[in-house]
Amino acid sequence: MSEPMPPHVVVLGGGSAGWITACLLHKAWGEHGGKVTVVESPEIGIIGVGEGSTPQLKAMFDHLGIAEADWMAACDATYKLGIRFTGWSERPGFESYFHPFPCAVDLHSEPDFTQNCTLARRGFDVPAHPDDWFLASILADAGSGPQPADTFPFPPTYGYHFDAYKLGAFLRDWAVERGVDHRALKAEKVELSGHTDVAALLCEGGERIEGDIFVDCSGFRAMIAGDALGGEFLPFAENLFADRAVVVPTEKVAQFKPQTGAIAMSSGWRWHIPLTTRTGNGYVYSSRYISDEDAAAELLHAVGLKDDETEPRFLRMKVGRMAKSWRGNCLAAGLAQGFIEPLEATALHIVIATALDFAAAYEAGGFSPEHRDHFNRQTALRYEAIRDYIVGHYRLNQRSDAAFWRDNAANQNLSDELKAMITAWFTHKDIAATNAERYSVQAYSAASWHCLFAGYGTFPAPAKMQPLPANLKAADHGAITSMLAACARNFSPVDWS
Ligand SMILES: Cc1cc2nc3c(=O)[nH]c(=O)nc-3n(C[C@H](O)[C@H](O)[C@H](O)COP(=O)(O)OP(=O)(O)OC[C@H]3O[C@@H](n4cnc5c(N)ncnc54)[C@H](O)[C@@H]3O)c2cc1C
Repeated sequence: MSEPMPPHVVVLGGGSAGWITACLLHKAWGEHGGKVTVVESPEIGIIGVGEGSTPQLKAMFDHLGIAEADWMAACDATYKLGIRFTGWSERPGFESYFHPFPCAVDLHSEPDFTQNCTLARRGFDVPAHPDDWFLASILADAGSGPQPADTFPFPPTYGYHFDAYKLGAFLRDWAVERGVDHRALKAEKVELSGHTDVAALLCEGGERIEGDIFVDCSGFRAMIAGDALGGEFLPFAENLFADRAVVVPTEKVAQFKPQTGAIAMSSGWRWHIPLTTRTGNGYVYSSRYISDEDAAAELLHAVGLKDDETEPRFLRMKVGRMAKSWRGNCLAAGLAQGFIEPLEATALHIVIATALDFAAAYEAGGFSPEHRDHFNRQTALRYEAIRDYIVGHYRLNQRSDAAFWRDNAANQNLSDELKAMITAWFTHKDIAATNAERYSVQAYSAASWHCLFAGYGTFPAPAKMQPLPANLKAADHGAITSMLAACARNFSPVDWS
């Protein structure tokens, strides 16, 4: 098959998703005759949340050739080595745990962690708290940045925290400087040609913008993929109860850890995201369990603000995914494509993966149904794998103090894959093998699953833990602690002042 001509891509929306997609598709096709136009309405504006990333954002900046020195200061960005979950378990010793981004050093410690988890799952009293076994956890706790001394050749994997408005503006300027066409216009109508193809966006002032490919990054409304093309939306409400968020910033903290805080609340959880200029806080909750007013009051109390000190911002979350992300010549990306609540900060991760996978699929087969179907299947599997891991956080919670947590622990609306993972843990099966067998798109490694199960202390009740018999061998916890401490000496705290 001959290669398709580099297309003219029209992106509707100038939020983080729109500009990330524009940058990546410009990078793919801009130098080969492709063109990218971004149409966005400043009047409608962007959602303006989404301040945490996975390491995929670093990979994207590396791919675009943008150095940290060029973008981080412009976006008030800080490093993120993982997420600390606090208050999700009442089990003594497991009130908090760190979910690290995996890195090369972990190849030495993770097998030992897995070994001890296996013994602890069988009821033996061995150290199996995730915090002790991963370099990122040790570094985050010490407030160290991810840049090692020159003599240490194993930099950790990391993501970032950033100001969502500034990230979008930075990417916009970068893209426009390189030839992406930016049209500050409101699209009023989508002109179709056939059932699933878009001919043009009809904009205010009578402007008609044509293209070969249209990317719907118009946010939760999904103006093209949803409204105009009638794409089916599959909600995740039965699996994930949270449907709202309330957000308030607080002052910048002078010294902070390079981690996102995910702190359990009465009817959901709140994030704590340190930026160089402020701290981001948001309570993700379920409107079935708490009113907006009570959620705002609970958040303000938790972050030490009084009612009259700030105006909380409320957001509704449409949680789920489009059944098909790519239909005809329209790709849905960002919130228009779907949204899984932000517990693991995966939305921009999916945006980046979507743009890269789409570029590869289009280059391989243009609009061929075979490539489109494959892309849609993989995208759906990615969403579902991420959703399951998030659902796992709720389903396995070890709290009994509020209806939200009790109902989540009793929730039976789990995918077969997630049921298999949970069953594997409690029946002593191999987690890595079950993960590989059940998830063809592996959103989370076996190490992440071990951290989740072990981080909540979902072992036999502590009182029943048995001393290890002589014929079984535990991992050398002391040796791993020393090894990680020695590695950590190659890193220094970052001065953010
Ligand atoms: C509470 C919450 C917390 C989140 N936390 C995280 C996180 O930690 N990490 C993460 O990765 N993600 C997070 N997200 C998701 C993240 O906010 C989004 O994925 C990201 O901001 C991208 O949004 P978007 O660009 O798809 O939509 P938006 O930001 O809503 O942008 C939509 C764009 O479309 C334009 N538009 C709409 N209609 C028209 C029209 N008719 N004509 C012209 N332009 C139009 C708007 O002007 C705007 O530019 C969070 C989301 C929520 C709700």
